[in-house]
Amino acid sequence: MSIARVALGVPLHRLFDYRVPVGENLTAGDVGIRVRVRFGQRLCVGIVVGVADGSDIPAEQLRPLEAVLRDLPPLPADWFRLTDFCSAYYQVPLGEVMLSTLPAGLRRVDPPKARAARRVPKPSAAQVAPELTAEQRQVLAAIEAQGAGFHAFLLHGVTGSGKTEVYLRLIERALAAGRQTLLLVPEINLTPQLEARVAARFPQAGLVSLHSELTEAARTRNWRAAFDGNARLVLGTRLAVFTPMPDLGLIIVDEEHDASFKQQDGMRYSARDVAVFRAHERDIPIVLGSATPSLESWANAADTRTPARYILLTLRERAVAAAQLPAVQRIDTRVERLQDGFSGALLQAIEKRLGRSEQSLVFLNRRGYAPVLACAQCGWISRCQRCAANLVLHLADGRLRCHHCGFECRVPKACPTCGNQDIQPFGRGTQRIEEVLNARFPQARILRVDRDSAKSRKQWESLLEQIHAGDADILVGTQMLAKGHDFPKLTLVGVLGADAALFAADWRAPERLFAQLMQVAGRAGRADLPGEVLIQTQFPEHPLYAALVRHDFPAFAAAQLKEREQAGFPPYAYQAMLSAEAPLIADAIAFLATARAWPQAVEHVDVMLYDPVPMRLARRANLERAQLLVESPSRRALQSFLSEWGGLLQSIKAPSRLRWHLEVDPLEF
Ligand code: ADP
Ligand code: ZN
Ligand code: ZN
Repeated sequence: MSIARVALGVPLHRLFDYRVPVGENLTAGDVGIRVRVRFGQRLCVGIVVGVADGSDIPAEQLRPLEAVLRDLPPLPADWFRLTDFCSAYYQVPLGEVMLSTLPAGLRRVDPPKARAARRVPKPSAAQVAPELTAEQRQVLAAIEAQGAGFHAFLLHGVTGSGKTEVYLRLIERALAAGRQTLLLVPEINLTPQLEARVAARFPQAGLVSLHSELTEAARTRNWRAAFDGNARLVLGTRLAVFTPMPDLGLIIVDEEHDASFKQQDGMRYSARDVAVFRAHERDIPIVLGSATPSLESWANAADTRTPARYILLTLRERAVAAAQLPAVQRIDTRVERLQDGFSGALLQAIEKRLGRSEQSLVFLNRRGYAPVLACAQCGWISRCQRCAANLVLHLADGRLRCHHCGFECRVPKACPTCGNQDIQPFGRGTQRIEEVLNARFPQARILRVDRDSAKSRKQWESLLEQIHAGDADILVGTQMLAKGHDFPKLTLVGVLGADAALFAADWRAPERLFAQLMQVAGRAGRADLPGEVLIQTQFPEHPLYAALVRHDFPAFAAAQLKEREQAGFPPYAYQAMLSAEAPLIADAIAFLATARAWPQAVEHVDVMLYDPVPMRLARRANLERAQLLVESPSRRALQSFLSEWGGLLQSIKAPSRLRWHLEVDPLEF
């Protein structure tokens, strides 16, 4: 009797045997085919990972396959190796990895009738490639010199240095060689410009995009085009890293440092790291590009003590001859007093731009009107009832909002505790800055760009259009505006409120701040107009700002890496984080303590388990949260420990409302 071994999307580290019904012929060649099976009471889709002649389970106890879904050819072997790797590395059951990385349309028990919808080709004036700069030519030559096998390149290029043009030339080569390319970007939402540019350059490549904003049908269709090999070029966000591509010959990860490559729920994988594994496994080149590489990648490329694992390539100059890097200056706010958050120097600089019909950007990475509302009489402050956090004042629509759990309510007219009618906002968010600027420059057209004003992709695109059309004089924006956009008329960037990140408890905060400020500074002076960046700070001598003034990422990175090495932090240590949340903190801590006390856990050499502690955001949505850090100087030691420990965690008895998850290589905690 023939048995199908099936992976299902359930949180169990095991596979499930089903009987192949009479009349259905399943062979080894069908491994990778989807099947419909009964699991408990429900029907679900699984993937055949093996076909055998018998099972440990008596035949009469085995359920039959309900159907073999032959609408899709079997998933390929390299996709199996990729999902297998992720399952082992991230400690997620294989079936969950497999099913969660398929588009929803292929996971459904009753797939909607596939409509033969053709992609509407984008009307694009075929784009002419510019003459390469000398630096671009060198970079391309260096990549070509390594041949077609696996090599990881770290392309470090200042903003505007023409990294994208390098990608396009590499894609051109891959297409000419008959290979497919996977181009990963952080958030497709933020990069409609790139999509248009790539489509215009390669109108014949059948470019498809894969990201979470597509409809289920579109995502399935695009995935299928990549799988069938019809799409020679796939542009996608992190989830696209799993797309089977039969002729894959090149992977590019743009803005490789970006935190959105890290999935924050379900399987908490890093698409960048998975991409590197995939390139290695397929024996093809991978290019990681950034103006501010992650320190992990930088250490891999620039480490002088061990042979570098990545090949470092550098673009030092901006590609457009006339475009200079902006002059970065610090405004010492201990000397220059602020009015409503602004220094006189910044206000003057904005005024100058208004006079010249150029654009200014005021960057503040905090949305809302003010981070908290407070009563000076009794000390009441707007706290979220469900989280250990403040409610943020959103004056634009008269709401108090929790940015952690989504709770919201009307702004009270008086203090809920003492009745005082004079309750005041404290601190400043983008809405308040917009208000200050409106009062100061009544004639200026001011546009706020943050997650509140650009909720949907449509809104975001329309904001971008307004900026490009020159319908805005001053932009007030969060990091949304920092990434990858070209605003030719923008010549001034003012940075407010950046100091907090210098001394944050999170030791990765400086790395993120530096990247953000480099990115946002890179918006200024992209065309023939020189740019200027003014940073308001109380700590003008801080080395981070000093490096920024010199546009010196290598110096910043070297200093950070030295600190990390001394402190024993990644990339000089490997970490995993076990987190638990429950209505009672004692339950969360007890779960972690049980996990920690597992005898083998204590005995593992080279692996250190810290004490369970409450998380920085200790309560969210009425759940108390705690975490347990696991650390090792050796990735291998950590992996071997996790492979045993992961199984144990499943067996710990925990209160029913307790939730836990294990995250490997955590970025934020
Ligand atoms: P990055 O991705 O490094 O920030 P881009 O690739 O977006 O930089 O290039 C910045 C600008 O320079 C774009 O307007 C692009 O069209 C232009 N550019 C890139 N390469 C060249 C080149 N070789 N000659 C002229 N312009 C170029
Ligand atoms: Zn009060
Ligand atoms: Zn909340």
